[in-house]
Amino acid sequence: MVTYTRPERLVVLTGAGMSAESGIETFRGANGLWEGHRLEEVATPEAWRRQPDLVRRFYNERRRNLMHSLPNAGHEILAHWQAKISVKIITQNVDDLHERAGSKDVLHLHGELMKSRSCGPNETTRRMKGWEMTAHDRCPDGFQIRPHIVWFGEAVPNMSTAMELVKSADCLVVIGTSLQVYPAAQLAFETGADVPIHLIDPDANSLNQMGAEAWPMKASEGLKKLDNRWFGSDQC
Ligand code: NAD
Repeated sequence: MVTYTRPERLVVLTGAGMSAESGIETFRGANGLWEGHRLEEVATPEAWRRQPDLVRRFYNERRRNLMHSLPNAGHEILAHWQAKISVKIITQNVDDLHERAGSKDVLHLHGELMKSRSCGPNETTRRMKGWEMTAHDRCPDGFQIRPHIVWFGEAVPNMSTAMELVKSADCLVVIGTSLQVYPAAQLAFETGADVPIHLIDPDANSLNQMGAEAWPMKASEGLKKLDNRWFGSDQC
């Protein structure tokens, strides 16, 4: 559906492609490699049990890269929209680039790279000061810490909140996700009837299973065009 009406309750679902223009590599499909590693080597609870040093090294490297990365023009546009309409961001990304661009309402489905989590029963999370997590690091309660990442095979605690957000939206923008990782991908199909969906992704035409308006381009380019459509006259 093509709509030129500016939304009032916008929900945005982002994936790895949102941060590609910030120099952060995307993930290449469930059986592919992520930064040269098979998923089961680095992003599952079994990997953490069998090879915690490798898993720590992998996320330390991701964290170090992230600390040298900056939000891109797409992140900035989403942050600017907050001053004009209600914008809730649901992200599959573990980076903090939405927040660093100034977005306030960001729900992370798959955890946050810049946080650690206690392996103890309380699972308390803490913001990390630097990039490195070591085998000796402990929480104040004495338990070991792990990356605050929702690994493949683990439950997604924010899923029901995300579902409610999508159902309450009057417009959904989906950006830079291959829609292969479940249950997150399900969100793209949970809008109310007649709610317009925009899909921004270089592969938008082949990914579009939900009757979205497809924007087959990079995140920043698609968001600039949407910005112009919805708010162009505000900027005169
Ligand atoms: P994915 O890697 O499976 O898909 C990336 C999508 O981004 C593809 O459809 C691709 O066409 C598109 N894309 C590439 N460049 C783009 C650009 N410049 N602008 C817009 N789109 C672009 O990503 P996914 O669906 O998010 O699944 C990957 C999983 O791996 C996520 O759950 C996430 O937790 C994790 N991951 C996170 C990050 C991050 O935090 N930045 C990076 C890699 C992987």
